[in-house]
Order: sequence, then C-alpha cells, then structure tokens
Amino acid sequence: MPTTVNAYIATAADQPLEATTIQRRDPKPHDVVIDIAYAGICHSDIHTARSEWGRTAFPVVPGHEIAGLVSAVGSEVTRYQVGDRVGVGCFVDSCRECDACKQGEEQYCERGMTGTYNAVDRDGEPTHGGYSTAIVVDENYVCGIPEGIDLDVAAPLLCAGITLYSPLRHWQAGPGKKVAIIGLGGLGHVGVKIAHAMGAEVTVLSQSLKKMEDGHRLGADHYYATSDPDTFTALRNEFDLIINTVSANLDIKQYLSLLAINGTLVELGLPEHPIEVPAFAVTANRRSFAGSMIGGIAETQEMLEFCAEHGIGSEIEVIGADKINEAYDRVVASDVRYRFVIDTATL
Ligand code: NAP
Ligand code: ZN
Ligand code: ZN
Repeated sequence: MPTTVNAYIATAADQPLEATTIQRRDPKPHDVVIDIAYAGICHSDIHTARSEWGRTAFPVVPGHEIAGLVSAVGSEVTRYQVGDRVGVGCFVDSCRECDACKQGEEQYCERGMTGTYNAVDRDGEPTHGGYSTAIVVDENYVCGIPEGIDLDVAAPLLCAGITLYSPLRHWQAGPGKKVAIIGLGGLGHVGVKIAHAMGAEVTVLSQSLKKMEDGHRLGADHYYATSDPDTFTALRNEFDLIINTVSANLDIKQYLSLLAINGTLVELGLPEHPIEVPAFAVTANRRSFAGSMIGGIAETQEMLEFCAEHGIGSEIEVIGADKINEAYDRVVASDVRYRFVIDTATL
C-alpha cells in the first residue's frame, strides 16, 4: 500500500504553490524510505515551478536538496540502516549501464537521469521532490550525511554544494589559482566556501557591495561590484577560472574578458534565454566557455566528506511551509542569505 504524505505542490506557472498530499510507493528491495527533515529551495525549483524552461509537467512537488533520516529499508538494502542521516540531490535513478553511469557521472547518463521531480521514473510514475515529509529512493542514489554537518545546513549541499564542488575539482581550483564566483546566492556562497577550502584565491563578483562583509567572512579574498564599470577594467585578464552562478542573463562577454590565458568560464546558471558568446571573446587569450551540471553520486559523497572535514555547511534561513511562496519572490529579488530551507515538519 502506498503511503500518503504531506507536500507542497506547484499546479501552474502562474499560481502559488499550495499544500497537498501525495503518494509514496512501498519500498522495493533496494529502496530506502527517508523521513525528510529539511528541503532547500534551489533557484531551479523556481525556474521549474514557473515553467521558465518550458518543460514542466504540472503538477510538480519541487525540492532536490533533501536531508533526513532513514525510516525503513527494502529487503536487500545494504548501504543504509534505519536511523541513518542521509541526503538526496537532483536525481533518483539513471540507466546504470552507459559509459557515463559506469564512470560515476550519472548526471550525464546517456539515456537520461531520472530527475528527483518533474520526471517520469523507470516504472512510468511521475517523480516528486523534497517539499514533502517523506521520499522513497533506491539506495544507490542516496548519500550519507557525515556526523559533522547538521541536517539543515547539509540539505543545500545536495545541489548547491555538488554543483560548485564538481567544476572546482574538475578545473583544479587550488593554491596558486585565481577563481572568481559570479553571484553570491545559494550556489555562489557555497562555492566561495569550497574554493577557499581548496586553497584558491577567491574573488566574488556581485551586483553590489551590499554583501561584501559576508563575502569576506565566507572566505573571499576580494569582492567587487559588477554594477561598477571600473571592475571590468581593473580585473581584465585576471582569472584562471570564473564560475557563473547567476540565474538571469548576463552580458557574458564582459566576464570572459576577465579570463587570463587558457582561462575557463564555467556556466552553472540556467537562465531562461540563450547566452550570446562573441567569437572574439574566446579566441583572445585562448579562453574556454564551458558548463557543468551537478555531479555524480560518488562525487557528491566525496563533497559531503570534504565539507564535514572543513566545517562547511550552507548559510541558511529556515522557513515554514507557509513562507515558501514569499521565499520564491525573495530569491528572485536576490534577497536571500543565502539559502531558504523548509522545515518539513511544517508541511
Ligand atoms: P540564487 O540563490 O538566486 O543566486 C543567484 C545569484 O545571482 C543572486 O543571489 C545574485 O547574486 C545573482 N543575480 C541574480 N539576478 C541577477 C541579475 N539580474 N544580474 C546579475 N546577477 C544576478 O540562485 P541559485 O539557487 O544559486 O541558482 C543559480 C542558477 O544556477 C539558477 O539559474 C539555477 O537554476 C542554476 N543551477 C544550475 C545547476 C547546475 O547543475 N548547473 C545546479 C543548480 C542550480 P548577487 O546579489 O551577489 O549579485
Ligand atoms: Zn538545484
Ligand atoms: Zn546511464
């Protein structure tokens, strides 16, 4: 018998989210049942709930930054036990057979990963995310949350954390590397902490200097306002790596001009409209314009261990379910320090 659980659901792009109940399946042999304690609000939830990517299959329960406790396990589960502290990120399954899956890059599964929400699982059922009191997930797509990190500040690591950790590792952020992070929001602030912990020299490029004090406290060595045109002359050819976390369309050529020889700008933000990259902006200095999407399960586990070791969690504002719609508006207005996390006991 499926279980009925409380949730918050988006029914249409122009409607607020509302309270509802949804069904969760009985655990299959390899499934873990998780009592969700906290769910982060990622800007991707908002893009989806407002159908800004034009591919939302309403109704949808968002939430892919999930932290909680295992409440039951299927008959063949070996990785987790009842009571374990666990997290679930952006996907809950993949084909497990393609080269990407075999390499632990399940997020790039050639047959398509199964999104935690707004997807159809391999049994043909729609998936629903973390704005709910429980979720049932195959043990191979669940990560353990180390004792050193509280569940509320751990939740955002399951998307924001891995989305920054993976490109910072891939493009070798570390001592001697100058790394800039564009946008000090949910993704950006975790990126500052992780890049700093990796030993890189970190610069924040924010719209204004309003959050400068926070930026330095989080680990930034330098902080600039992108609303000031002098920023772009002062920092010309400066960075080895620039990570763009901005949810809106930027004039990317301005930022490409800040890359040193062989520098790379990694696009993480997923704005509604295409990004225009003039050829001259990348041919100069042999620059690269790249992208990156979350990270695999093994790398997510590695990121969680790294964060525990370095005392890294997200900076959060915990909210009740009745504040979800207001929180959405505040995120869009860049009025968040630095991640809203839903206390699912209020759902
Ligand atoms: P967020 O908390 O809203 O942070 C985005 C930040 O971008 C804001 O805090 C703001 O920083 C800056 N910003 C916002 N609007 C801007 C504008 N019009 N001009 C310039 N800067 C602006 O969002 P998030 O949750 O970090 O997500 C950021 C983006 O990444 C979203 O598009 C999301 O869908 C995407 N994402 C991608 C992946 C992936 O795997 N690639 C994973 C998760 C999310 P300042 O106030 O400091 O300027
Ligand atoms: Zn996300
Ligand atoms: Zn695959």
